[in-house]
Amino acid sequence: MDGTLVPREQAVVSVFDHGVLYGDGCFEGIRAYHGRIFRVGAHIDRLFASAEAIRLKSPYSREQWIDAIRTTLNANGLTNAYIRVVMTRGVGTLGLNPFRCPAPTCFIIADSISLYPPALYESGMKVITARRPRNLPAALDPSIKSLNYLNNILAKIEAIDAGVLEAIMLNHEGFVAECTGDNIFFVKGGRVVTPAASAGLLVGVTRGFVLQLCREMGLPCEERLFRIEELRQADEVFLTGTAAEIIAVSQIDDDVIGSGTIGPVTRRLTEAFRARVASHAPED
Ligand code: PMP
Repeated sequence: MDGTLVPREQAVVSVFDHGVLYGDGCFEGIRAYHGRIFRVGAHIDRLFASAEAIRLKSPYSREQWIDAIRTTLNANGLTNAYIRVVMTRGVGTLGLNPFRCPAPTCFIIADSISLYPPALYESGMKVITARRPRNLPAALDPSIKSLNYLNNILAKIEAIDAGVLEAIMLNHEGFVAECTGDNIFFVKGGRVVTPAASAGLLVGVTRGFVLQLCREMGLPCEERLFRIEELRQADEVFLTGTAAEIIAVSQIDDDVIGSGTIGPVTRRLTEAFRARVASHAPED
């Protein structure tokens, strides 16, 4: 918390913190595998990009953040972990003005996470298409990983109401953007496709790593715009995210995808991903 290790009970923020009052701030979710912090450099770069987009200045350098993440992992005796890094606008007055908050509140949590039941990684999971569109980039750019996640949470509630765990979100023009907490890919005729950043999405670190794996494995891949109809007719659909890693989609609304279970390309990518993070997870 703000540069010092504290026990869990003392890790608290003020009710006057603008992170709490307005969701004003930004964050990252990062994984560690066997003591290596997966693409921590990319995560901290994204944290800094999010902060800059909301005119929040980090009191710590990139290196200081990375050191503090390692310290927090070690203090918790963790080698495999889920790490949450948060930087809020800080404590201020009861008004929106962010510049009346003298210093950001910064904290790092190192814990574990299990997002989806393990069996779903074999069977694939059902998802729905959310009725609610993803935030309009000109209003609140989804590439900013801000503490304001209500757009995603309201779509997640649609998913839970429908008895599933994730929802596909379309942009205001009806193009597929991403899911509430994961990026989305499809496979058709051996080609791997994911929405281009211009669809209005969080440019996921896992998404980037999967695109890199595709290139290394010689799988043709592309980033472009597409509509939900194309996704429904795909051979395979899968989601990516720090917490989710890679998970197959078996059904979208009432449409079964491909064979209705994890497909061969998704399986190859999952195996390559697991092998890479098990042996020597890249930290840059
Ligand atoms: N989209 C959204 C909205 C997310 O919250 C996340 C999780 N951070 C992702 C995509 C996946 O990004 P990453 O692979 O960097 O975790």
